[in-house]
Parts: sequence; C-alpha cells; structure tokens
Amino acid sequence: MFSSLRATPKFKAVLLGDAGVGKSSLFLRIKDDVFDKKLQPTVGIESCFKSLCVDRAEVSFHIWDTAGVEKFQSLTRSYYRNTQVVLLVYSVHDCTSLQRLTKWIQDVEQHSPNAMKFLIGNKCDLEKSVSDQSANNFAATYECADVFLTSAKTGEGIDKALVKITRKLLNSY
Ligand code: GDP
Repeated sequence: MFSSLRATPKFKAVLLGDAGVGKSSLFLRIKDDVFDKKLQPTVGIESCFKSLCVDRAEVSFHIWDTAGVEKFQSLTRSYYRNTQVVLLVYSVHDCTSLQRLTKWIQDVEQHSPNAMKFLIGNKCDLEKSVSDQSANNFAATYECADVFLTSAKTGEGIDKALVKITRKLLNSY
C-alpha cells in the first residue's frame, strides 16, 4: 500500500565563488526573498532549506553559504560533504571573478567530484563585463550542467534557475 509513496528528494547545494560576487545576497534572496545592500558579513557557515514543487514533484534543497569564510581560509571538507549541487557564482560585472572560479572548481574536484555544477552570473542588473559567450565557453570547459544569469538585487533569474536546476536533478535522480 505504501510502495507508491516516494520520499521528497533532498539535495545539498553549496554556493562557491570569490568574496564580493554576491553569494550571501543570493542566499538571502532565496531564503527570505529580500536584498539587503548593507548585508553584514556573518561569521561561520550558514544554511537554509528551500522546498520547491516542479512538474508536480516536490524537492527540498539544503543550501549552504560560506558567509565570508572563503576570505580567510579555505573551506573545510565538511562544507562539501554529501554535496550534490555546486553553484559556482561569478559577477557579470567583474571578469576576473569568472576566471577565479577555476580555484573553486579544483576544490570541488577534490571534495565533491560527483556533484552537478551550475554556473551563475550574478549582478545581471549591472553593466556586463563578461560576455554570454565567455560564460558558455567556461561552462563547457568545466562541465557545468547549465549557465544562469541572476540578480540578487532585483531577484531576476533566480526562480527560473532553481526550477531548471531541479529539473536537471530530477532527470538524473
Ligand atoms: P559575497 O561576498 O559573495 O557573499 O557577496 P555579498 O552578497 O556580500 O555581496 C557583495 C556586494 O555586492 C554587496 O555590496 C552587495 O550589495 C552587492 N550585490 C550582491 N548581489 C548583487 C546584485 O545582484 N546586483 C548588485 N547590483 N549588487 C549586488
């Protein structure tokens, strides 16, 4: 009788990228749907749960933000443990932030080689210094499953990205 009941799939997702690209702002936008331009760096690592219903399937994300720790130390192994989704964040307004993601990708290869990687160009409300072509090339080179442009400030692109990420995960689940 209970055999048709499926547990809600749960995915651990981590935000990675250099300080200043907007990881904590994205985290806050996903968690509380707000943008705080005076966001204070918090000490330690924060996480939140986000449930989504996509194509009549419910999924739950446990999303982790480095909360500034990446500025001072490399991230610990526990940050990556059991991660299925890696959100590689750069700022579309800062081309070095895209290239610097290679450092985070090396970390991912070491600690979470099986995680699905997504490239996120944040701050799309600002003038673009990174072309879509460069982002797409980067994503292809580093085997990212998809590329999204988002703005934590306006909220643009975030829901769409979460839905598409969910679909990719469900298809490979
Ligand atoms: P983190 O160090 O990667 O966590 O970055 P923060 O979330 O602390 O953001 C760094 C700075 O970028 C802050 O001044 C934010 O207000 C700003 N910021 C974050 N996201 C956006 C965005 O989508 N658009 C704009 N214009 N500014 C943003």
